[in-house]
Amino acid sequence: MKNDKNLCDDWRLTNQMNYLFGAVLQKCVYKELGNSDHEHCEFCWAKFGVHEDMLHVGYCTLDRYRWICPECYHDFKDMFRWKLTEISE
Ligand SMILES: [Zn+2]
Repeated sequence: MKNDKNLCDDWRLTNQMNYLFGAVLQKCVYKELGNSDHEHCEFCWAKFGVHEDMLHVGYCTLDRYRWICPECYHDFKDMFRWKLTEISE
């Protein structure tokens, strides 16, 4: 156990435990859907979008409603016990 950083006190955590604990996620490439041209990471609010300065690849719920950036995925995957599923494009 490393205790240099207590993730429970991380500024990025709000109430995600209520809806993302144990969620099934897929790695996906952002595509414009419907009338939204960007999404935000559920934790740090990094922006996903089609523009160059935005993130293009991240982890999302199967309905593509919730997005998580690679950094937050890495930091919180143990705490949230996410299951990563393979998808075909
Ligand atoms: Zn993030």
